[in-house]
Amino acid sequence: MSNYKIETKCVQGGYTPGNGEPRQIPIVQSTTFRYETSEDMGKLFDLEASGYFYSRLQNPTCDAVAAKICELEGGSAAMLTSSGQAANFYAVFNIANCGDHVVSSSTIYGGTYNLFAVTMKKMGIDFTFVTPDCTEEELAAAFRPNTKAVFGETIANPALTVLDIEKFAKAAHAHGVPLIIDNTFATPVNCRPFEWGADIVTHSTTKYMDGHGAAVGGCIVDSGNFDWLAHREKFPGLCTPDDSYHGIVYAEKFGQDGAFIYKATAQLMRDFGSTPAPQSAFLLNLGLESLHVRMERHCANALAVAKFLEAHEKISWVTYAGLESSPYYALAQKYMPNGTCGVVSFGVKGGRKAAEKFMKHLKLAAIETHVADARTCCLHPASATHRQMNDEELIAAGVSGDLVRLSCGLENADDLIADLAQALESL
Ligand SMILES: *Cc1c(COP(=O)(O)O)cnc(C)c1O
Repeated sequence: MSNYKIETKCVQGGYTPGNGEPRQIPIVQSTTFRYETSEDMGKLFDLEASGYFYSRLQNPTCDAVAAKICELEGGSAAMLTSSGQAANFYAVFNIANCGDHVVSSSTIYGGTYNLFAVTMKKMGIDFTFVTPDCTEEELAAAFRPNTKAVFGETIANPALTVLDIEKFAKAAHAHGVPLIIDNTFATPVNCRPFEWGADIVTHSTTKYMDGHGAAVGGCIVDSGNFDWLAHREKFPGLCTPDDSYHGIVYAEKFGQDGAFIYKATAQLMRDFGSTPAPQSAFLLNLGLESLHVRMERHCANALAVAKFLEAHEKISWVTYAGLESSPYYALAQKYMPNGTCGVVSFGVKGGRKAAEKFMKHLKLAAIETHVADARTCCLHPASATHRQMNDEELIAAGVSGDLVRLSCGLENADDLIADLAQALESL
């Protein structure tokens, strides 16, 4: 499929049926697989042969969908996980262990921030957070001898900052470590981070890839571009023998193309088991088939809504990288010339109280802690996800009391704007 354009890969990538086989990806609803001899099965356990033996590790439905996302990102290998959280945890933990350190952009998804700053910190992994707008010097100063990776989001959820991927890739490579990019909000339709130097890409497929609020899921894709063996001393997990598989060395046995995903599957999926259900992978694939069509509409609706809000007297500020007034407009044009994402955030004049009142009057936009759905939804973080915080704490968290996050769905833009207009009128 690699010669086809992204739209064609969305529809037909990952799975090509043979003569008389199902046109749609079959849901292989089986935990286990049958073998003729114990020797056959033994080879799978030794990683000497590839094949299926237990769906905690690998399942044909999940693998076909992972293969499609791999093609969309232009990667060399990929795996699905049961959630975006699991994808980011595995991607980092696959190379950073107790005593190691990771540099991360500070504007990342709240769940990822908590995973890094609290849970992985308890596992002995230290994180240094840098603002995505930092200078090259500030970025370089964040590295330590035990740094194993750099992490950032193409478009941050919910801050909507745009990462200068080339700047972060250059710094990571100068220090002999890979750049991991969470590409959830942009999707490979709008940005392919490997083309700008990223080494590993992760996704919460729960968002635009699924796109219908149907199934939680995640994905990790390897570019195959990072030379682990050239930095042998930094990555013992990939470059020294794994005793749990008779001493194989992943980077030698599976090469630069396969080592990262093979190790994450053979060790992390085996031991942690954040396995997606084949049924969920099937639903994800239905979403992927229309991802390119939907992203265009999500972005067009969001731009129309952002322009309407920017010109409205009862709105104090609008954050959307597709607006020419955005400080991230130039970066967005560089990395995402066809559009950014469907999420817009803005402030309602009158602060916290006015924002609450405004949202009560919305009819089409439902109040949900979700984004990237076909149906428009919105959230007032100060009275939901961040409600424990007072006004000062909110400001420190980068979430002002007046902030409303709106995820523009696939409805008609005029209807969405009319809904916002009537709710603003109520103020
Ligand atoms: C939602 C989200 C996650 C977490 O994904 P889940 O599928 O909810 O586990 C990670 N990163 C980003 C950017 C997200 O938006």
